Amino acid sequence: MVPAELLGLEKTELVALLAAWGEPPYRADQLFSAIYNQRLRDPEAISTFPRALRTRLAAETRITWPLVEQEFLSGDGTRRYLLRLDDGETIETVLMPEGARDTICISTQAGCPVNCAFCLTALLGLKRNLTAGEIVGQALVVAECGMRSAPNAECEIHSGTPHSALRIPHSSGTPHYNLVFMGMGEPLLNYDATLKAVRLLAACQRLGVTTRRMTLSTAGIVPKIEALGKEPVRPKLAVSLNATTDEVRTRLMPLNKKWPIASLMEACRVFPLRPGERLTFEYVLLDGINDTPADARRLVKLVGGLRAKVNLMGWNPGPELPYRTPPEERVLAFQQVLADSRISAFIRKPRGRDIFAACGQLKRTVA
Ligand code: SF4
Repeated sequence: MVPAELLGLEKTELVALLAAWGEPPYRADQLFSAIYNQRLRDPEAISTFPRALRTRLAAETRITWPLVEQEFLSGDGTRRYLLRLDDGETIETVLMPEGARDTICISTQAGCPVNCAFCLTALLGLKRNLTAGEIVGQALVVAECGMRSAPNAECEIHSGTPHSALRIPHSSGTPHYNLVFMGMGEPLLNYDATLKAVRLLAACQRLGVTTRRMTLSTAGIVPKIEALGKEPVRPKLAVSLNATTDEVRTRLMPLNKKWPIASLMEACRVFPLRPGERLTFEYVLLDGINDTPADARRLVKLVGGLRAKVNLMGWNPGPELPYRTPPEERVLAFQQVLADSRISAFIRKPRGRDIFAACGQLKRTVA
């Protein structure tokens, strides 16, 4: 019998599984807490369970975390993790230390089918969608590794070491994270698993994350943006815009042909924001392509009137791609045009460029 995977199951699913074994619902609460809060990976270690139940769980189920195949440490403190999944597929997850609250950048697909011209992940194509458990597992494993002071410190979740119960207390109590679904893949093309992972992560007290601390970035899958707006539990929405005319955007992001800028902006305009919430528009600046004052003025027209902010990023270089990062003064001039029109615009510092961990650089690079 193939053991049933527990990581990625919601409480209702655990209730059903245990009810079929004649166990009361409170056991599902205990099991949920063991998986997501205590972060146990061996059912035998669930000390609140009677021996017979632990033995049955160990025989018929499993809790599988991704394994850390390699860990890369940037000069700015960013860590990129190359993770191996149960079927041998590999993905990447990034930890960006930021004072009191670190940010974990999570992948939702192995590779990506969207084919943005400026992104190294696109060169991989789509390998497969990730399961909810594999999405949640990234946050658990990176949080566990991130508690360690040195890369590749003795760690049972690194590749080649046995699965076993592993619980390491955080020296300063519960760690707190921002989670961004901006790693490999287009989250809205793996909608159900991503939203399930969001619900699980929001319920995972051990990570100290609420949905207000989660941001999902999309290239602009319009029908799924509409669906996301109706979710009772959802992350904040970021839209990767990157151009102000359909001609340029279609060249940079071929999906714009299917969902042009007007339809994307309409979906953003009617997206139901919570009190105090703002949309984020991400704009990767490519030298000589989308970084002119005329682009900035068109961007003002597109986002003006929306409750939104703009994150500007100079392109993060990828050796195989034919683009250049604009000089700093051009980025500043672009920001100034937005600021003059009272659009909140921030220049996002690149993180982990030296280890290929920055936005658009995740391509399972190993050297
Ligand atoms: S930018 Fe995002 S959506 Fe576009 S190819 Fe890269 S990973 Fe996919």
